[in-house]
Amino acid sequence: MSLTQASSPPARKQRPPPQSTVVTAVEQVTPLVTRIAVTGPDLAPFALAKPGAHMKLFFPAGEWPPAEGVANAPRPPSRTYTPRRFDAAKSRLEIEFVMHGAGLASDWAAKAKVGDRLLVSAGPGGGYPVPEDISNLVIIADDTALPAAGMVIEALPHICNVNAICEIENAGEERALSPLVACKPQWLHRSPGTAKPGAMLQAAVASLSEQPAGTYYWVACEAAAMRAIRDLLFARAGIDRKRVHTRGYWKYGDTNYPDHDYGED
Ligand SMILES: Cc1cc2nc3c(=O)[nH]c(=O)nc-3n(C[C@H](O)[C@H](O)[C@H](O)COP(=O)(O)OP(=O)(O)OC[C@H]3O[C@@H](n4cnc5c(N)ncnc54)[C@H](O)[C@@H]3O)c2cc1C
Repeated sequence: MSLTQASSPPARKQRPPPQSTVVTAVEQVTPLVTRIAVTGPDLAPFALAKPGAHMKLFFPAGEWPPAEGVANAPRPPSRTYTPRRFDAAKSRLEIEFVMHGAGLASDWAAKAKVGDRLLVSAGPGGGYPVPEDISNLVIIADDTALPAAGMVIEALPHICNVNAICEIENAGEERALSPLVACKPQWLHRSPGTAKPGAMLQAAVASLSEQPAGTYYWVACEAAAMRAIRDLLFARAGIDRKRVHTRGYWKYGDTNYPDHDYGED
C-alpha cells in the first residue's frame, strides 16, 4: 500500500454547536466601541475564561435553528471576540466591539438591539496564563485588544507594575481598561489616513525605555504589526523570548482572521 493510500485525512475535531443567547443591553462606550451584553442558559463555562481568552460569535445567514437540527447543521460564519466580563449570578456576558467599518461582526454590532439573538461558542478558549513570577508587564495593544488587556490587568498580582501602550483612532477612544484596576495607558492616536495599523505601536516599541530584568511583554494587535513588534523586541538586548506573548487579532485586508496567530512562524 502506498503512503498516499495509507494516510487518510485527520478526523475533524467535533466541536459543540453554538449556543443561543439574547442581547440584554447595548451601550456606546466610545464613538467606535459598542459594549453588548447577552444572556443565555448555558454560559457558565465563561466563568473559567483565562485573561485574554477568546470565543466565537456566529452569524447565520438563514433560519436558526436550522431544519436539519443544530447538531447536524454546518457551522455558520463566525468571528473571534473576547469574553470581556462574565457575571455568573446573572448569566450575563459582555463583549466590546470595535466598529472598524464594514464587516460581518462589526455590522451586526452596529445594528444590535435588546432582544436580538447572538450565537456564541460553547465556552472560551486560549488565554494568557499569568506567570507566577511576574512583577513588571509591558502591554502593547490596539483597540481590538483593549478588552483582553483589561482582563489581563485584572488577573495580575497587586505587586505587578504595568506599562500599557495602546493604539486607538483618536482621543475620543480613550477609556479605562478596567473599572477595577487603575492603569494609565500611554495612548497613541493614529494619524488620519496615513499610518498603517500598528505603526504607532511599532514606533513606541522602537523607542521603549529599558525595562527591568525579568519584564514580561503581552502584545496583541494587527498581525503584520505584531510580527514587526516581535522583531523589534527580540532585537533588544536582554529580552527573554519566553517572556514575550504575541498575538495577531486581525489582518489588514483579511476577513475572519484566525484566532491562533501567535507569530511563531
Ligand atoms: C483572540 C482575539 C480576540 C479578539 N477580541 C476582539 C474584541 O474583543 N473586540 C473587537 O472589536 N475585536 C476583537 N478581535 C478582532 C476581530 O476578530 C476582528 O477585527 C474581526 O475581523 C472583526 O470581524 P468583522 O466581521 O467585523 O470584519 P471582517 O469581515 O473579519 O473583516 C472585514 C474587513 O475589515 C478589516 N478589519 C477587521 N478588523 C479591523 C479593525 N479592527 N480595524 C480596521 N480594519 C479591520 C479586515 O481586514 C477586512 O478587510 C479579536 C480577535 C482575536 C484573534
